[in-house]
Amino acid sequence: MHQSGGIRGCGDSRERTGRWLEDGFPKIGWKFAGIEDYGEEGLLCQMCGHAKRRFLHVMTHDEVPEVLALGLQCAELLEQDWYRPAKRERRYEDDLRVRKDWPGKRWKLSSQGNSYVNVREFNITIWDKGGAGFGVTIKLQNKFDGSFEINGKKLYRTLEEAKAGALVAFIYARKKFASLE
Ligand SMILES: [Zn+2]
Repeated sequence: MHQSGGIRGCGDSRERTGRWLEDGFPKIGWKFAGIEDYGEEGLLCQMCGHAKRRFLHVMTHDEVPEVLALGLQCAELLEQDWYRPAKRERRYEDDLRVRKDWPGKRWKLSSQGNSYVNVREFNITIWDKGGAGFGVTIKLQNKFDGSFEINGKKLYRTLEEAKAGALVAFIYARKKFASLE
């Protein structure tokens, strides 16, 4: 197994620490509920108690009333998954970068006159609904067969509002696409 020689927690220690030592505290059956950003200060992992992290994986358990916020390695151990937790942490961090860069995006005009921009692996297009407002569609870039397409229901009054609102649609689309993989 991955943790031969003892449980490796967030601090990459081979010592068991914190709640890993607590008899009767469940080490299986935890479910991922979301990632939270604790800022520069960070927060100690609530499982091993010895790694301070900025991004923590929030997990819940049917039989435990409290919610745990965990560093990556403890989340991997509790989920017994060495692929998805790291992937979603990378995506979360990248979402923050995308949010930061969004206002400076250089939108282009398609041959049909629609504003579009390619962000990561997605193509985001704004449609002028002729007086009804502006809508946002997101597709996988270079894959226009409709295998992944999200048509935002929300209509914006102006093109600028639609460009700003497309960020929310992008974050949603990426999360949705990741869950399909
Ligand atoms: Zn930990």
